[in-house]
Amino acid sequence: MIAHQENNLKLKEKLTQVYGVAVDEIRCEGCLSDAPFFFCKVCSIKSCTQEKKIAGCFQCDDFPCKIIDEFAFPVARQVMLRSVPAWKKLGTEQWMAEEEKRYSCPHCGCKLFRGVKRCRNCKEEVALDGE
Ligand SMILES: [Zn+2]
Repeated sequence: MIAHQENNLKLKEKLTQVYGVAVDEIRCEGCLSDAPFFFCKVCSIKSCTQEKKIAGCFQCDDFPCKIIDEFAFPVARQVMLRSVPAWKKLGTEQWMAEEEKRYSCPHCGCKLFRGVKRCRNCKEEVALDGE
């Protein structure tokens, strides 16, 4: 989503290698938009929240369920297991502020991605403990 928002061609090219899709398919307007990323058009978590008519796992008493346990990307699963209980506890506004702070480089303020060890902008090391 950030690569799309910033129209960051260098980053888009890197992501084509990760996802095996063309550069013009590296675009995302967010999970809840009508134009999510290619792979996220079909998402078991999104389908579940739509069926339950909730905005996200933070509103679900069954979290963490089988869908989370079986989610294919370990880093994403780790992030969900940390962040969803925090979202429940803090409420959306405070949780978003804390997540934005967590995923901003402490040296230059650049937005960081899950799983990174270094800031792509200033190249300083960053520590996203427990994601
Ligand atoms: Zn930085």
